[in-house]
Amino acid sequence: MKIYMNGRLVPKEEATVSVFDHGFLYGDGVFEGIRVYEGVVFRLKEHVDRLYESARTLALKIPITPKEMTDAVLKTAAANEKRDAYIRVVVSRGAGDLGIDPSNCAGATVVVIVDAIKLYPEEIYRKGISLITASVRRTPLECMDTRVKSLNYLNNIMAKIQAKQLGSLEAVMLNTQGTIAECTADNFFIVKDGQVKTPDLTQGALGGITRAAVLELARKAGIPASETVLALHDAYNADECFLTGTGAEVVPVVSLDGREIGDGKPGPITARLLADFRKLRVTDGTRVPYPVSPRQAPKRTPAVRPGPSPRRTAAP
Ligand code: PMP
Repeated sequence: MKIYMNGRLVPKEEATVSVFDHGFLYGDGVFEGIRVYEGVVFRLKEHVDRLYESARTLALKIPITPKEMTDAVLKTAAANEKRDAYIRVVVSRGAGDLGIDPSNCAGATVVVIVDAIKLYPEEIYRKGISLITASVRRTPLECMDTRVKSLNYLNNIMAKIQAKQLGSLEAVMLNTQGTIAECTADNFFIVKDGQVKTPDLTQGALGGITRAAVLELARKAGIPASETVLALHDAYNADECFLTGTGAEVVPVVSLDGREIGDGKPGPITARLLADFRKLRVTDGTRVPYPVSPRQAPKRTPAVRPGPSPRRTAAP
């Protein structure tokens, strides 16, 4: 496995970060989770834009341009020759001293990892999942804008632990007003009377790339889709619920806090959006420039044809 580290592709064993890196000491940094589908990096531009926006808000200077970051992602995917993978881009504040002052950090650490993706089992897409509402609230916007995808996920991790303790894979997280923000690592949607609704970003949701794609797909399919305020009451009484995320894609939710959603089965609009997303994911992105293997290279006709060979190999 080759890891991109500060401008170089290095073997996994050499891809190490200082214990003085403020990403390690303080969670001071930003990241992206991106998917490659059949050699196409899904919505790479949107991910790179979100990364730079997150960094700007944290006054974190990324030492390379967005174009160079895009190239780094593509180069790392190509070097690892993965056609279906998960890409993690991390930019941390870099190595400093033990104080929190970022001005003592020499410069950001930039890492790109391309690895195999552990998918949700396919059964989940057919049967749906059960959610609980976590007692831990999403970090309020007035403390840290939740559009920033930072390395600091403590509230979300606490909520995830609670979900797992109660036998669920994911949890709904409320904001400090008590309305729905999102899930621990996914955005949350309901369907009611043929309309798709998701919490507005001011409710404490991350601006998910999958969320944006699903809102577009719904509107394209003629399904009204809006960003709004949703209370648990709206979710309990929804016809369908689902969540979206880079890892999850579109996962049906069939119960929340022990209440069945709709008829307790994945709904037709969720199924339609999942199917549409799975078509979109292989087309809407940037193709990885894989090295051309000898088998794929265009055949050249030799100027002088050799005589009949005693060992003929079958054409591919
Ligand atoms: N919310 C949170 C808190 C997340 O970490 C993520 C990313 N897994 C999402 C929502 C979904 O965003 P995206 O569709 O860009 O992966």
